[in-house]
Amino acid sequence: NRQIVLASRPQGEVTPDNFRLIETPLAPLAEGQVRVRHHLLSLDPYMRGRMNDTKSYAPPQQLGEVMIGGTAGEVVESRNDHFQLGDRVVGMGGWQEYQTVDARDRGALRKVDTTHIPLSAYLGAVGMPGVTAWYGLVRIIAPKAGETVVVSAASGAVGSAVGQLAKARGCRVVGVAGGAEKCRYVTDELGFDACVDYKQHADLKALSGALKAACPDGIDGHFENVGGLVLDAVLLRANAFSRVALCGMISGYNGEPIPLQFPQLMLTNRMKVQGFIVSEHMDVWPEALQDLGGLVAAGQLKYRETIAQGLAAAPDAFIGLLKGRNFGKQLVQLI
Ligand code: NDP
Repeated sequence: NRQIVLASRPQGEVTPDNFRLIETPLAPLAEGQVRVRHHLLSLDPYMRGRMNDTKSYAPPQQLGEVMIGGTAGEVVESRNDHFQLGDRVVGMGGWQEYQTVDARDRGALRKVDTTHIPLSAYLGAVGMPGVTAWYGLVRIIAPKAGETVVVSAASGAVGSAVGQLAKARGCRVVGVAGGAEKCRYVTDELGFDACVDYKQHADLKALSGALKAACPDGIDGHFENVGGLVLDAVLLRANAFSRVALCGMISGYNGEPIPLQFPQLMLTNRMKVQGFIVSEHMDVWPEALQDLGGLVAAGQLKYRETIAQGLAAAPDAFIGLLKGRNFGKQLVQLI
C-alpha cells in the first residue's frame, strides 16, 4: 500500500519535502473491517491548516502519519455484511492507495450510487464542498429573490456551487475569481451575472470600484472563501442588514497576515457575520446532499474538476491548489 505521509511541517509555503511517499504491507482483515481501493483522493484547502502544529478547530496532523483527506473508491475485500465487493464508497481514507477501515463505525464509510452521479462528484458538488456551499448560503446568508450575493474563489469547488444555488433562488450573483479564463467560465458556463477578476484590480479602490459596477444595488449576501482585500472591498459595498458567511480565508493559509480595514462597517451596516465549520453541522448533510445530488443528476448544478494522475502527483497538486493553479475541484486519480 503506497502512502504519502507528512514528513515535516511547512514554514510558510508548502514544499514537496514536507511529504514522503512510503510503502507498507496490507494486513489481513479483522472481523467488521472493509478494504477499499481508492480511485480518487480529494485535495482541500483545510489540509494546509492541519499541517501546522497550532491550535485550530481540528487537531494537527501528526508527523509520519498518512495525510488525511476525503476519498472515493471501491470495496475490494469485506468482512462486514453491509459492504460487498464492488460497492462504491466514500470515506476519509487519506492519501494512500488502500484504506482498511472498521465499517461497524457507521460514519466511517458511506455507500454511494453512481448510476446518475459520477463517483468524483461525491468528493465535490455532492460531497463536503457542496454541503459547505449549501450551509453557508442557505442557513447563514439565507438570500431572498432579487438580492445580490457575492462569492469569492467563484470557480472553485465551493464557490461554483454557492453561485448556482443562489441563482436558483432568484438572486443577482457576482463572483470574484483570479484570471480571465476562470471569470469567463463563471459567467458563461455557470450562469453568474458577473465576475470580477481580482488580479486585474490589485488595490482596494480598483476592486471595490469593480464590485460597485457589478453590484449596482449593493451587496446583501457575501460568501467569503479568500479573505484579505476581497473581504475589505465587499464591506465597502455591503448594504444594511447584509449577511456574510465566513467560510475560508485561503489567502492567509501560509501564514500571511490578513489585513481587514473596515470592521466598523459591520457595525454601521448592522451586518451579520458568521463563521462556520461544515463538519459541525452534520444534521444538515442529508438534506443538503439530497438537494445537491438531485441538481447534479438533473444537470442543473455544474462543476469542473482538475485531476492529477497518480499518488506521487498529490503533493504538487496540493501546492498548486494553494496558489490557485487548480480550476474547479482538485482531485487525484489513482486508478
Ligand atoms: P477551491 O476549489 O476554490 O480552490 C482554491 C481557490 O482559492 C483557488 O483555485 C484560487 O482561486 C483561490 N486561491 C488560492 N490561493 C489564493 C490566494 N492566495 N489568494 C486568493 N485566492 C486564492 O477550494 P474549495 O472550494 O475547496 O475551498 C474554498 C474555500 O472554502 C477555502 O477557503 C476553504 O478553506 C473553505 N472551506 C471551508 C469549509 C468550512 O467548513 N468552513 C469547508 C470547505 C472549504 P482563484 O484562482 O480564483 O484565486
